[in-house]
Amino acid sequence: MEIYSYSHINTFENCPLRYRYRYIDRIKVDTKFVEAFMGSRVHKSLEKLYRDDIWDKESSLKSLLDFYHSNWEKNWHDSVIIVRKEYSREHYREIGRRSLEQYYKRYFPFDQTEIRALEKRIEIPLDDFRFVGYIDRLSRRVDGTYEIHDYKTSSRLPLKHDIDEDWQLAIYQLGIQEWDDVNDVDLIWHYLVFDKEFRSKRSPETLENLKREIVSKINDIKDTSDFEPKKSPLCGWCAYQNLCSAGKRSF
Ligand code: SF4
Repeated sequence: MEIYSYSHINTFENCPLRYRYRYIDRIKVDTKFVEAFMGSRVHKSLEKLYRDDIWDKESSLKSLLDFYHSNWEKNWHDSVIIVRKEYSREHYREIGRRSLEQYYKRYFPFDQTEIRALEKRIEIPLDDFRFVGYIDRLSRRVDGTYEIHDYKTSSRLPLKHDIDEDWQLAIYQLGIQEWDDVNDVDLIWHYLVFDKEFRSKRSPETLENLKREIVSKINDIKDTSDFEPKKSPLCGWCAYQNLCSAGKRSF
C-alpha cells in the first residue's frame, strides 16, 4: 500500500517538479536551510524537555538551553544554507534560544496536561493509501480532552482562517480518534518565535470531508504525468535549484 504524508501533498501543491525530484526520482541532497535547521534543534529540545518530564527529571531552563546549544553545534554542517544574507547563523541560533526560553517561562512547570506521546507516529488508512504523520506532542487533560500539539518556528503568524482551515493536525486527529478513550480533541499550534498559542477544533463532519479531500489530493498527484515547475518565492528555499531551469532564472 502506498504511503503519503503531509509533506508529500504540501510539496506537490507548492511545486509539482520539486515533488518529482524528491519523491519520484528520490534525488538525495545534503542541503538544509537554516530555518529548517533551527526548527529541528528547537523540536529536539522540546522533545527532551517533555521526555525528562515523563521520567520525573525536572529540566532547568539552563539545562534546556545547554542542550539546545550543544545539539546546534553537533549538527551544524557546511551545507546549511542561509538565504537571507542580512541575517547570520548566530541570529538564527538566538531566535531558537529565545523561543525556547519564552516557551519554558510560559508553561513551567509543564503540568497542564498528562503527556501521552512524543513524536507519535500515526497511520490513517485512506482508500488504497496509507497516510502517515508524526504528532509533536499528544497530551490529555484531566477532563479527558486530548490535545494535539504542534511546534512552529515560522517567522510569520497565521490568520485565524489559516488555523481553522489547516488540515495537518486535523488529519492527525483522524489517526487517534479510534482510540478507546478519545472523545474530545483540541488542536494546538505553538508559534514559538512569537510566544503565541492557537487552538481549534474539528467537527466529525469536517473530518469526514477532510478524508475525501485528502484522497482527492493524492489522486491528483497519482494522475499527474508532467510535473511542471511552479515558480514562487519558495524557489529560494528549494534544494533542487541547480537542477531546475525555472528556479535558476528566478535568482
Ligand atoms: S526551483 Fe522552484 S520551480 Fe524549480 S523545482 Fe524548486 S520550487 Fe520548483
